[in-house]
Amino acid sequence: MDMQTSFLDRLFDAGLLIDTGVDGLYGRSGQFEDVIAAFERLIDRFADDNAEVIRFPPGMSRAIFEKSGYMKSFPQLAGTVHSFCGGELDHMSLLKCMEVGDDWTKDQKATDIALTPAACYPLYPTIARRGRLPATGGLFDLQSYCFRHEPSKDPARQQLFRMREYVCMGTEEQVTEFRQSWMDRGVKMMEAVGLDVVIDVANDPFFGRAGKMLANNQRDQNLKFELLIPITSTAQPSACMSFNYHQDAFGTKWGLELDDGSVAHTACVGFGLERIALALFHHHGLDVTEWPVAARKALWG
Ligand code: ATP
Ligand code: ZN
Repeated sequence: MDMQTSFLDRLFDAGLLIDTGVDGLYGRSGQFEDVIAAFERLIDRFADDNAEVIRFPPGMSRAIFEKSGYMKSFPQLAGTVHSFCGGELDHMSLLKCMEVGDDWTKDQKATDIALTPAACYPLYPTIARRGRLPATGGLFDLQSYCFRHEPSKDPARQQLFRMREYVCMGTEEQVTEFRQSWMDRGVKMMEAVGLDVVIDVANDPFFGRAGKMLANNQRDQNLKFELLIPITSTAQPSACMSFNYHQDAFGTKWGLELDDGSVAHTACVGFGLERIALALFHHHGLDVTEWPVAARKALWG
């Protein structure tokens, strides 16, 4: 059995994750949730910078999703919500379809909702609608379940998982300084809970052959960094945080303006909450009462 499957099975056996029959779709125990809640409080303590808290649901406007360009870059990961919109006759043929085991989903119609692929996607148009940003720029604290269609036996690669994010909007200096400060904080936070990390340059999984160029470009310009911790592989540690500088791409797309009317630069920092909990369980063991005192203290005081 490979390391990913055996760790997943141990998490199931311990009741920390609950099997649903679908790879990457799991229930979580109270203990698992308590680790995430404690880690989020640790994030709050490190943040300490008056970000505006906004919580969106795990679904977003399909129109905004379309305009975001997600389908250009990551069609393989996207999820959309479809519903039955027919009349009684359609309903009868739907039930018949299900009864005989045919594909009943082909007549489902797209709703106005797409599943949120990253916590910050609904934010940019929301803030643009308010008008120009104040002279201090914008700083936001987000958290959302996110969907990505990447079924896997690796418990660190789920299809529905939570991302906590901080997003900064401002000048190039403001947002790159924000990103750097979170790289430093990220390293300190993981040190506080007893996890060894490395930070490395990274790229997003852009689709197709044209995507290779986009990925290379992203790397060459140091637009994305990841904080990596080994969970199910030491050779390929998992990204538990990412630090992304979008230049003025989102500012231009969504019409985000600074107080002098110039286009805002943006950056976002994402914590993969399940991955961080899994890194803690992997390194300190499945029984939290046995975790190192310093890590327990950082999490629960
Ligand atoms: P990876 O390279 O591992 O696929 P990513 O580049 O897709 O990660 P981001 O898009 O930067 O990751 O997402 C922000 C954070 O969300 C990641 O650093 C990670 O901690 C978490 N994350 C991303 N995809 C998943 C997933 N499928 N399951 C659990 N957590 C995830
Ligand atoms: Zn990914």
